[in-house]
Amino acid sequence: MIYEGDVYRPPSEAQSLIIQLTIGCANNTCTFCGMYKCKQFRVRKLDEVIEDLYWVKRFYPYSFDRVFLADGDALIVKTSDLLTILDKIYEIFPHTKRVTIYGTAKDVLRKSHEELCQLREHGLEMVYIGAESGSDKVLRDVDKRVTAAETIEACHKLKAAGIKVSMTLITGLGGRADSREHAIESAKLVSATKPEYLGLLTLNLEPDAPLTKDYMAGKFEILSPFGYLEEQKLFLENVDSEGTVLRSNHVSNYVSLSGILNRDKERMIAQLDAAIQSGRIRPERYRRL
Ligand code: SF4
Repeated sequence: MIYEGDVYRPPSEAQSLIIQLTIGCANNTCTFCGMYKCKQFRVRKLDEVIEDLYWVKRFYPYSFDRVFLADGDALIVKTSDLLTILDKIYEIFPHTKRVTIYGTAKDVLRKSHEELCQLREHGLEMVYIGAESGSDKVLRDVDKRVTAAETIEACHKLKAAGIKVSMTLITGLGGRADSREHAIESAKLVSATKPEYLGLLTLNLEPDAPLTKDYMAGKFEILSPFGYLEEQKLFLENVDSEGTVLRSNHVSNYVSLSGILNRDKERMIAQLDAAIQSGRIRPERYRRL
């Protein structure tokens, strides 16, 4: 099995077998994202994907218990093919405990409740949704091509089918101009959806991302490192999402947070305050996408 191009996965899938169902991202418009800009999107042939699974079984003597389906929005694959792949995964790797996937809100909304229930029954446990922001202005500015209302509807649809949601937000995505709106609207989005997991990333301008060109041209003003922490504080002060597991252990962050909402809000806010006061944050050279 040969991966095509760079392969990205959530931090929590570090030990998972990663299978590319698609190459690239069907959307590929987001101005902050350079992950798939050099890939032409396509859905891989089912036979090729199944061959990958047999290849892994042949050459890796141990069995994987977690499988992650990539690339950027693999949930776009038609449901009948996803069901075939899920069945094959559990057949070839009988110790599989969970299968997860990247998907956009629009991918979810294109599927019926019955299709999502079928996916759950065949072992799809969780969808990673990059919501990025709860502000429609910010989402428009970064050309995300989804609204907060669509993300809310998609999360509710997944929950109704018994599929867990892991959502990500990007601190600083509104720049200086929209920092406050981004924090408060994102808190509203999370409060309205109450995802099982929430990952906070911090904006890290990538060389291939159009937003980087805007920044270089002076059209987009980024926050200072402590501005990002203030924004995360504002988000935490406004969010109400009982039971959501929050992590900001991604290497793009200046401070790693870990806790359960709402129980650990005050502790995490105090952790951000301590970092702001002491100046002890992850050095810039260690931050990555
Ligand atoms: S952020 Fe997600 S949807 Fe947007 S271009 Fe990147 S992978 Fe595609």
